Amino acid sequence: MTSDSKLVSSEKVVLLSGVSKCFNHIPALEDVDLWLDRGEILGYVGPNGAGKTTTIRLIAGLLKPTKGTVQVFMTDPWPETSPARTRFAFLPEVPHPYDDLTVYNNLLLFAKIHRLDDPHGRISKLLQQFDIAHLAHRLAGTLSKGMRQRLLLARLFVHDPELLLLDEPTSGLDPRQQQFVRELLREFARNGGAVLLSSHNLHEIEEICDRVIFIARGRICSEGKPADLLKRLEGCKLRIVPSESEKVDDLRNALLSIPIVHFAIPRDGYVEVLLKERNMPDDLSSRLQHDGIRVRSIEVEQCNLTDYYQLRIGE
Ligand code: ATP
Repeated sequence: MTSDSKLVSSEKVVLLSGVSKCFNHIPALEDVDLWLDRGEILGYVGPNGAGKTTTIRLIAGLLKPTKGTVQVFMTDPWPETSPARTRFAFLPEVPHPYDDLTVYNNLLLFAKIHRLDDPHGRISKLLQQFDIAHLAHRLAGTLSKGMRQRLLLARLFVHDPELLLLDEPTSGLDPRQQQFVRELLREFARNGGAVLLSSHNLHEIEEICDRVIFIARGRICSEGKPADLLKRLEGCKLRIVPSESEKVDDLRNALLSIPIVHFAIPRDGYVEVLLKERNMPDDLSSRLQHDGIRVRSIEVEQCNLTDYYQLRIGE
């Protein structure tokens, strides 16, 4: 985290300061500082086992930190009676609806837990919004993966939360539904809601997040707005088209033997190359010439967050 993020604890929806979490004395998170504002969508990205779910569970008050403090709406979310608990909704990585209840009754159960004044009105609205009205009387256990995910997403909104903690929310959804969820999250944030979004889908993160935090091995390694992170990236992406006498695979193999090449992927008629440093195309073409590899063209392409991940996190 940058030093200016060590804020001023007031007004943050979520604030983690110096948080560590160990399981059986083995650290899963170390000295994590993290904050989230109203109206903000924060992407939380890292390899498997990096500590993302552990962080989200700490924020949801399902785990207690070994060291440091977790505040959600300025209170400790840990005790079950914490007032923060009624103000957020949590979608775990492997969520489960109640399989032997209907879609409608799954929502009704949550509405009752949250003591809504007009549960039926709220549920009708959510059934329409999430396009599951036709499934209202189906048992949740009989739904397809995507239908279940829509039910679970609808359930998040039953009590009108101010903060969403989402672990892979678009997993299992078809492209149209994924787009619907992205628009829904943007709308939620525009209305002042805060979203912590853990996802392995970096296109999604780049498309909707205001800010991204990368975590690896329990430590935050970089943080910033997607566009700023890409500006700071030491690296360069190229599209290299082989000459007619060269094969894409041969060009790719030649490229992989060059130390400045981070990776080279054969595509349809060209090789996509990620270089470890910026401003390297001149070196690269002279090296290819030296090795007797002929190319038709080398074009520089815009890096995206997937490239950032490959170069900076690289696990
Ligand atoms: P993924 O992308 O695979 O979901 P993640 O970034 O969410 O990974 P976590 O689930 O937070 O990672 O796990 C971080 C580390 O903590 C891992 O080494 C994991 O094995 C360990 N861990 C998590 N929960 C427990 C637990 N209840 N008991 C013991 N170790 C745990």
